[in-house]
Amino acid sequence: MKSTARLLQTLVVMAAIGQMPSAWAAAAISEDDLRPHIEILASDAFEGREPGTEGERKTLEYLQAQWKKAGLKAAARDGSWLEPVAMVRRVPVQSSASYHSGKDRLRLSNEDIVLIGLEANSETAAMPTIFVGYGVNAQGEVVADVRDKAVFMLSDRADFLPEKLLSSRSRREALANKGAAAVIAVSGEQFEFTAIKRQFQSRPIRLDSNIGHAPIEGAVSSNYMVALVTAAGGDWDKLRLAAKAPDYAGQLLNSTASFKVETGINRFNSHNIIGKIKGRKSGSGTVMFMGHWDHLGICRPEGAADRICNGAVDNASGMAVLTEVARSLSRGKHDRDIVFVGTTGEESGLLGAKAYAAAPTVPLDSIKVLLNVDTIAIAPRGAKVSIIGRGTTPLDGVIENVARKLGRTIEPSTEANAFLERQDGWAFTQKGVPALMVGGSFADPELLQSFLDSDYHGPDDEAGSAIELGGAAEDASLHVELGKYFASNRKFSGTDKAKGAGE
Ligand SMILES: [Zn+2]
Repeated sequence: MKSTARLLQTLVVMAAIGQMPSAWAAAAISEDDLRPHIEILASDAFEGREPGTEGERKTLEYLQAQWKKAGLKAAARDGSWLEPVAMVRRVPVQSSASYHSGKDRLRLSNEDIVLIGLEANSETAAMPTIFVGYGVNAQGEVVADVRDKAVFMLSDRADFLPEKLLSSRSRREALANKGAAAVIAVSGEQFEFTAIKRQFQSRPIRLDSNIGHAPIEGAVSSNYMVALVTAAGGDWDKLRLAAKAPDYAGQLLNSTASFKVETGINRFNSHNIIGKIKGRKSGSGTVMFMGHWDHLGICRPEGAADRICNGAVDNASGMAVLTEVARSLSRGKHDRDIVFVGTTGEESGLLGAKAYAAAPTVPLDSIKVLLNVDTIAIAPRGAKVSIIGRGTTPLDGVIENVARKLGRTIEPSTEANAFLERQDGWAFTQKGVPALMVGGSFADPELLQSFLDSDYHGPDDEAGSAIELGGAAEDASLHVELGKYFASNRKFSGTDKAKGAGE
């Protein structure tokens, strides 16, 4: 309630001389609006907001109350706020692998192998073994027929691999989708066996669907491969070198494998939270705002001084911005529905976003634009506006027009696109939805890098005065204006090309 009369006077004068900036007319969102949400969501009481924990329960309870207060209506499928996302944690318990070459049983140590099954007990018949090099060729195609085979794939990254298939996870998925019965990563120079094994044992969270997973997955050391290949009369060094060719086509290993795998399985439901502002013109499409509520939880071993990764910048700041954008937009009337989605499991691989994109509450082709908000509290006021996803939609021009009207300047480079696949919008970009991340945090590579090199994903990403909220406040106000613009049938038809569409 501070000096409203005086502010009004100033605005009247400014309007009279034709200088009223629209940001002021729209009652800009301030640092003080954002800070309390971040302090609560990133407090130790929320235990780092890990899916499936008490931290999730508290986070969703808080957001639900805040979103309701901000004027949103519950918009999950069953009329509540929460859309369940089925998740699973798997941990290897024990396993055995046996190999035959002709009639000979191959003797291999059980030391350097770790196996995990989709189900608690998996036992396979004998099947052919095949070495597939990096799994896919330079064109991104799986290199050989892997159906019903035990497939050994190099986990290291090769220069010829297409960008989308660089990670060993994505190549494992490609092999699983082609019907491999077992996909086993071979450690190399970039990823040591102990590190890969530790990853399997760390019980990572996954979506509880079989999509992208072979019935059995695992890893072996390169020493294990030397033993396996040599015992069947082959030469591992030759195989390994041959695989460096961008058109490598794989090699059967002259042996069969059978596996017996016991896996600890813990299934649970996490949740996306969904709220909306109903538009006046039903059927004219949806504007979607998204941000992930989850973070890494208790992330340091017992005895560490600070064990909680609080995720203040990543992404309590984004949830604070979504909440205040919701409050501001729900004060007005809009043609289109405006839907807000807080996603789970982003930190484990965009899980909540992938689950939403696979089973959306509104048809994906009705989403006119999706604006994702992640790690928004890095830059001070005055930061340039960058667009993650620049060039992937026809919307860059209209977004720039809205930003310029607020006095913002534009970062025209595509450097921020380095983060395209590391944010929830990517699950939608892949399905043809125009999904972007707009703001100042990713416009200054030095500022961003200094966050990534310091507090990022550690116990020091905490609430407090050290967090720069100036840029986040400006970006929040920008998102309000973008929301108004994209939710207006008159201003934005939904098929506008960049030029001529700005108002
Ligand atoms: Zn993160």
